[in-house]
Amino acid sequence: MEDLTYPWVLPVLGRLPRSAKALPRALLLSGRPGLGKRATALFLVQGLLCETQRVGLRACGTCASCRLYQVGNHPDLRLIEVGQEEDGPASGTADEEAGPAKKASRQISVEKIRTLTEFVTITSHRGGAKVVCIVPAEAMHPSAANAVLKILEEPPGDTYFLLVSHQPERLLPTIRSRCFHLAFALPDAGPALNWLKEQGIEQGDLALAQGGYAPLAAIDRANDESFWSQRKALLDTLAAAGFDPLHAADCAEEVDGVLVSILLSQWAYDVVALKSGGNVRYHLDYAASLQKIAATMPIDELMRWYDAVIQFGRVAQHPLNKRLAMESLLCGYPGR
Ligand SMILES: [Zn+2]
Repeated sequence: MEDLTYPWVLPVLGRLPRSAKALPRALLLSGRPGLGKRATALFLVQGLLCETQRVGLRACGTCASCRLYQVGNHPDLRLIEVGQEEDGPASGTADEEAGPAKKASRQISVEKIRTLTEFVTITSHRGGAKVVCIVPAEAMHPSAANAVLKILEEPPGDTYFLLVSHQPERLLPTIRSRCFHLAFALPDAGPALNWLKEQGIEQGDLALAQGGYAPLAAIDRANDESFWSQRKALLDTLAAAGFDPLHAADCAEEVDGVLVSILLSQWAYDVVALKSGGNVRYHLDYAASLQKIAATMPIDELMRWYDAVIQFGRVAQHPLNKRLAMESLLCGYPGR
């Protein structure tokens, strides 16, 4: 059985009833990626499906229902996640102009949700609760979200909904309002660092900063060697005394567009923070270079570039011409 040992999640669970049966029928678990929302949702799913009489939310891990869950074959669970559609045939939907299969994989289609309509109306296979878990809920196509809303408007008595969301503001307000909201906040840096140390992460402070202060994102970052080498290549160009925009564009072209937008916006954030008398928040290992840059970079040029980075972030997933986008972005960097 998966256990839930993240210390920052325990206070969140403390806001729920002490028994799985008393859980709200619709739960929204929200917060930035890397805080353990999905793991928490699955922990609650197991607790809801478990057939052993017990106190607390934790599943027994040994009953027939727990064993079905463990082998990924529980008939009363529908776990709907983005990316799952990749293994099915590319299902071109009438109201979706997606076409290419790779676009479909970023979205939860209305077909996926339509199968739920039947699931919630049939009787539970094992006579207990039925559970629907959607990760992340904002990935639902608008028609899919409307179909879920319809179900939530007339909730079947034995079905529980767990919606995981990294960006709850992108959900229909009418869906949000029907859910008990469980918000996951960033833990304080001290306890998060202690936890990372226990997980054997070296340079936990830098990993935590680069994971946006979300501990699980920090672990992903720490273990991703290509992230660190790509990051170093790109940031070294920004830190260099003689900034060369075309060389910087070469480096940026090698890096995933979303990651470029994150690294550059963190860079701009750090320079702005230093200019405002604050501290480096993200690129801790470049603090000395950032100090020098902050001392000389004109604030108006910096803010213009920061805006351009944020604008790029909106299309970073699919830039029309990545090379051109990188050149235009980096030629605007006010470094010298
Ligand atoms: Zn059990």
